[in-house]
Amino acid sequence: MPNGDNIWQLFVRGLRGKTNIVRIHKDATVDELINKISDMNGIPAKTQRILYTTKQLEYGRNKYLSDYNMEDQSNLTVLLRLPGGSGTYGVIDIDGGSDYDGGRDYDGGSDTDGFSDNDGGSDYDGDSDYDGDSETDVYIDSDNDGGSNNDGGIDNGGGTDNGGDSGNGGGSDNGGDSGNGGGSETVEYLPPPPIGRTYLPHETLANPKQLDEDVETTEAPDMISWEDDPNTPRAKMSCGHAITPETLTTYCESLLSAGKYVFKCPYNSTSGSYCGKEWTYLEVRRLAVLTAAEKKQFETMISDNYIYKGMGIQECPKCHSFCERINKKDKRVVCPLCSATDGVEFHFCWLCLHEWVGGGVEKCGNDNCSGEDPRLKILRDCKKKTIVGVHGCPAVRACLKCGMLIEHEKACKHMTCVCGQKFCFICLKPSLDGIYQCGSFNSPCEIAGVQKTIPADN
Ligand SMILES: [Zn+2]
Ligand SMILES: [Zn+2]
Ligand SMILES: [Zn+2]
Ligand SMILES: [Zn+2]
Ligand SMILES: [Zn+2]
Repeated sequence: MPNGDNIWQLFVRGLRGKTNIVRIHKDATVDELINKISDMNGIPAKTQRILYTTKQLEYGRNKYLSDYNMEDQSNLTVLLRLPGGSGTYGVIDIDGGSDYDGGRDYDGGSDTDGFSDNDGGSDYDGDSDYDGDSETDVYIDSDNDGGSNNDGGIDNGGGTDNGGDSGNGGGSDNGGDSGNGGGSETVEYLPPPPIGRTYLPHETLANPKQLDEDVETTEAPDMISWEDDPNTPRAKMSCGHAITPETLTTYCESLLSAGKYVFKCPYNSTSGSYCGKEWTYLEVRRLAVLTAAEKKQFETMISDNYIYKGMGIQECPKCHSFCERINKKDKRVVCPLCSATDGVEFHFCWLCLHEWVGGGVEKCGNDNCSGEDPRLKILRDCKKKTIVGVHGCPAVRACLKCGMLIEHEKACKHMTCVCGQKFCFICLKPSLDGIYQCGSFNSPCEIAGVQKTIPADN
């Protein structure tokens, strides 16, 4: 049986507004995890996207959980990828089985539109666990082999050999087609913990947070509170600036509450120069000594902020699963989960989030539908600000490459999106081969108007 510290519990939220728990060996591959989640929720791996904070877990790239800095009790977020609806499709064969679970064929792995065989939708409940009350069921893989598959030739003791050819179980059970077939871990559906956008209150700490012994500390005062008591250690952040775990927690929390999903150093020198270097979540997690409750709060808020503010994710109006569109141009979309549950396709309008009334793919038939992507309204209505002396620049821009909405922070006009695209916030010219076309980070350039389309959608 799974046991000991080598088995992690991961919290997976996002479908139907609920959270499920996946147990998985800490040395498992990302593919194994995704297959497990796919088996659990009945959604093919390619019809969902799984995020840890803002990082998308990549399928088929031979990555390990450790590559994403996951740890026990990490919080993952699932997004459904919605196909467009034309009204001419049959019912989506949602539970036809993925190619990951024993050869049932979800669309043969070929098409990218998320539609599977339109065969009339016979098989929605082959696995019975979509009946709406499934969260308390406990599934145990059939060939639970007594827990041996986690050490069939690999060394879990040292926790060191993720690499190379070892994988889990000597590579025998990681195959693309096997899914969990060779695995032994338990997948449990537990009663839903409180979830959604309600966050757990802080755990009350009787004692100050203790930094790990190997964290580099500094004599410099806390950059925000100016705490300089030698008995209150300040961690030295990757940018070199000093902060106590408590201040770091509070500061980052305030960023999250303000809708941010990246953490930047707020340090201002006496001469007024701003640091602004980004801290990774991994760094914050460690140096803020986040408690379990705080990790949950941070990880879910980072993902929420990222997907709502940045990616233009919506919730299905019926099942409240997080959704994104496979084709960003679709206004009429189909929720695979609702369709599977009800046995009839559920079509809704991406723009107003009401059930699609009538035919066509352009007008949803609801009177109050603006017919506009909500992100365009954000781009249009955002506040204007002064950046490097240029007045009236929109404070929010869509990334030229991925369409992610980015709010301008401070100082510099140059931006790097999480997708890697660099561009000028003022004139919107991309950096070419690492060179900005409009001068240095603090030289004025001409304002480009409000963006009227989301770049990645076109
Ligand atoms: Zn700094
Ligand atoms: Zn739905
Ligand atoms: Zn609409
Ligand atoms: Zn981008
Ligand atoms: Zn510029």
